[in-house]
Amino acid sequence: MHQKSFRERVLEAYREQCAFCRLKHAELLDAAHIIPDSDELGEPTVSNGLSLCKIHHAAFDSNFIGVRPDFRIIVREDIRW
Ligand SMILES: [Zn+2]
Repeated sequence: MHQKSFRERVLEAYREQCAFCRLKHAELLDAAHIIPDSDELGEPTVSNGLSLCKIHHAAFDSNFIGVRPDFRIIVREDIRW
């Protein structure tokens, strides 16, 4: 049986929208790991995934934005307007 990739499963769970800005162009969306896959807890499961557009994925990886364990989005203090 064909096993869907991490990206396919995460994008499907988020209805192919960016979790931050709701951009709906799948070709501009990535499946980001909440806990990085370099970490032993960073499993490629939907619960550890976020559907993010390229911009928000880069911002997430650079710690401009983050997600708390209760799923609230946090924006780094010093870049808020
Ligand atoms: Zn976005």
